[in-house]
Amino acid sequence: MFKRVLIANRGEIAVRVIRACREMGITSIAVYSTADKNSLHALLADESICIGPPEPSESYLKIPNIISAAEITDAQAVHPGYGFLSESAKFASICRDCHITFIGPTPEAISLSGDKSACRQAVKAAGVPIVPGSEGIIKEPQHALEVAQKIGFPVLVKASAGGGGKGMRIAHTEATLKNAVTLATTEAQAAFGDSGVYLEKFLEGARHIEFQIMGDSHGRVFTYGERECSIQRRHQKLIEETPSTALSNSLRAKMAKAALRAAKGIGYTNAGTAEFLLAPDGQFFFIEFNARIQVEHPVTEEVTSVDLVQEQLRVAAGEALSSSSVRPEGASIEARVYAEDPEMNFRPSPGIIKRCHLPGGPGIRVDTHLFSGYEVPRYYDSLLAKVIARGQTRDQAIERLSGALDEFVTEGVKNTAKLCARIVRGDRFRRGDLGPDLLEEYLPSDR
Ligand code: ADP
Repeated sequence: MFKRVLIANRGEIAVRVIRACREMGITSIAVYSTADKNSLHALLADESICIGPPEPSESYLKIPNIISAAEITDAQAVHPGYGFLSESAKFASICRDCHITFIGPTPEAISLSGDKSACRQAVKAAGVPIVPGSEGIIKEPQHALEVAQKIGFPVLVKASAGGGGKGMRIAHTEATLKNAVTLATTEAQAAFGDSGVYLEKFLEGARHIEFQIMGDSHGRVFTYGERECSIQRRHQKLIEETPSTALSNSLRAKMAKAALRAAKGIGYTNAGTAEFLLAPDGQFFFIEFNARIQVEHPVTEEVTSVDLVQEQLRVAAGEALSSSSVRPEGASIEARVYAEDPEMNFRPSPGIIKRCHLPGGPGIRVDTHLFSGYEVPRYYDSLLAKVIARGQTRDQAIERLSGALDEFVTEGVKNTAKLCARIVRGDRFRRGDLGPDLLEEYLPSDR
């Protein structure tokens, strides 16, 4: 096992990895930008090192700075967390060249997962159903039109290098298709430096079901069950849970098999997630593979009692996967709390948290980097905390989570906890009638 691990991230996930290292007797090394000098991850790690100014491009995304930090501190491995460099094949490959273990999949698997259009084809070749759409990148508007006519409207134009719900445009008619392709192409170029887009049939009312995967370097690949993430805002997840209320045991088994086939088709090792859409008629389709630990991994941990971050460390160190048969128990739901004002169209709300109160009690876990007096910087993702409830039943998890979200206080900074509490308590959520349109019912009607 590694003795020294550098964590190339910040916020709650850096804190999460530090704690996993501590439990395993590994020395944790944090990196921080000057804006994060007094952040919890920099304070909690055994060692910490400054990697540059606040702008992510000059610090958390700057590969030479991260590699230098790893070399100066004698780190044997780097955990990239999620976001930042976690899905950079270039970074993983430079780590390999520098004999630093990248705690994640191979650069080749990252490249394939990151090229969503190519990944669709690889997964299709492995025998997994994909959403009907274009075979590869759209070359010109006429090509888009031909594909759309074949699969039928509405269609979704998606960035091949996309992530975080960016670079996606829906077109309901031929008249709006050309514009959707232009907008998605421009957005993709600006956000990802890659203008490639592809087409998919837009599946109305589809639910988002994903499977947690873990592969070791001995050719074993496991799944740790599903998570449902159908409650989203602008294609970004807000509330996630396991088990999904949409799956029967036989459908679950079928989808798990498809997820494993997808992972094997990609040549996947370490932690990853196979994402699917489940259409109202019960058909499921692969949409993408995320080559990293996911924000919502705790719900899986709560029902399986597996520490996925520790598994990541073990697998990266060459150990074989330990937990061959996982038997999930009970239910778990996570709500993401952002420093945003839901009353003001989710305007970011950076600033100093004068006082904070974090919930607790039986079955409640809070993954966060918050403390009273912490200043939420304006440079980074505005995720403040993940509140995770576990229950013997889904109803118990709902009661625990909504109560915990009511307790959540960050004086001086607006947050989305109360909104999540209202959603989770609502009739539709309780019935398990989830869908991408659910959030709209909770937003002020003038929007
Ligand atoms: P990203 O990588 O940006 O997160 P995804 O491909 O994972 O993009 O899609 C994000 C979300 O957008 C999905 O969870 C789903 O809610 C919605 N979505 C994606 N593709 C489709 C589709 N073909 N039809 C309907 N909704 C879709």
